[in-house]
Amino acid sequence: MIKTENSHNSRRNFLKRCFYSLLFFNFSTIPNIVGYKITKDKDSKNFIPSYIKLYENGELKRRGERLWARMEACNLCPRECGANRLKGQRGFCNSNANLEISGYHPHFGEEKPLVGYGGSGAIFLTNCSLRCVFCINWEISQEGIGQRADIETFARIMLDIQKIGCHNINIVTPTHYSPHILLAIDKAVPSGLKLPIVYNTCGWERIDVLKELDGVVDIYLPDFKYADPKMAEKYSSGASTYPQLTKIAILEMHRQVGVAIPARDGILYRGLIIRHLVMPNRVAGTKEIMSWIASNLPKDTYVNIMSQYTPVYKAKNYPEIARKITRQEYSEAVEWAKKAGLTRLDIQGYSFLN
Ligand code: SF4
Repeated sequence: MIKTENSHNSRRNFLKRCFYSLLFFNFSTIPNIVGYKITKDKDSKNFIPSYIKLYENGELKRRGERLWARMEACNLCPRECGANRLKGQRGFCNSNANLEISGYHPHFGEEKPLVGYGGSGAIFLTNCSLRCVFCINWEISQEGIGQRADIETFARIMLDIQKIGCHNINIVTPTHYSPHILLAIDKAVPSGLKLPIVYNTCGWERIDVLKELDGVVDIYLPDFKYADPKMAEKYSSGASTYPQLTKIAILEMHRQVGVAIPARDGILYRGLIIRHLVMPNRVAGTKEIMSWIASNLPKDTYVNIMSQYTPVYKAKNYPEIARKITRQEYSEAVEWAKKAGLTRLDIQGYSFLN
């Protein structure tokens, strides 16, 4: 177990996430996925994750060390805040070089091809570089709830997740800890790690960091939150480059892993899943985002149109996003996606709406 600094908070958050997992399980394990199809050439028995080859030739460790060195004047995310994390300084994301983990457990609220029958093995990393005012995980991403863990512990958590039967290692908010992730995988492979790595990111990534992940990550799970730089700036702590950089990042992710096509067992082992959270008053720019995806990626790109926007954390200070979305807002989002020509839509429906 990770050593606990605040076990009350930790237990409370664990229970909270279990509750949400069960809540989501009721609704989203029976999704309406338009155009769902499976591939014939992969299944759980013959899947070999990309990182095994990189481990064998020493490249995985070299890349982890290269990323680690960048924490001296950190530029691991587009903030490029330059904190010397190696000397203990905390950056804009509130992280220094010490890994902090909020918790881990089988998650049954993720997309069906990630959940399967054993769950997606979610590991929640503490802190975040984007810092959105409406973050549903704000206690973890912005209040620093979590416990310090070394690389060996991180590796052991990955192996634990594998042992309990999850289908993947789903690393939530990974960007600021990308060096730790690579080094932990490198430690876990000799002990038998063989699950695909899910890079569950806000989408706001640097291309040079993504290149270091090429051949390590099998499944990219980015958000595509905003089309308009002004919205990104307003609701995500000044991140006006979000639309521009996220487009570049998603193209690179697709280049690396391709379209997400589940295997015969219904489980996804490789590919790109884009998440888009519909926001009130068209703040997210859903129409433009769907149009961009359809014009720049294959039409059967897996897109999850999410309806569960909830005005938590600081969202109440912004009247235009201080409510849930309406059925009409969700319906028009789905229509825009279909009209754009997208054929593989994960449609959550109206279960989260009043
Ligand atoms: S990952 Fe954190 S410390 Fe590094 S550049 Fe981004 S905000 Fe700064």
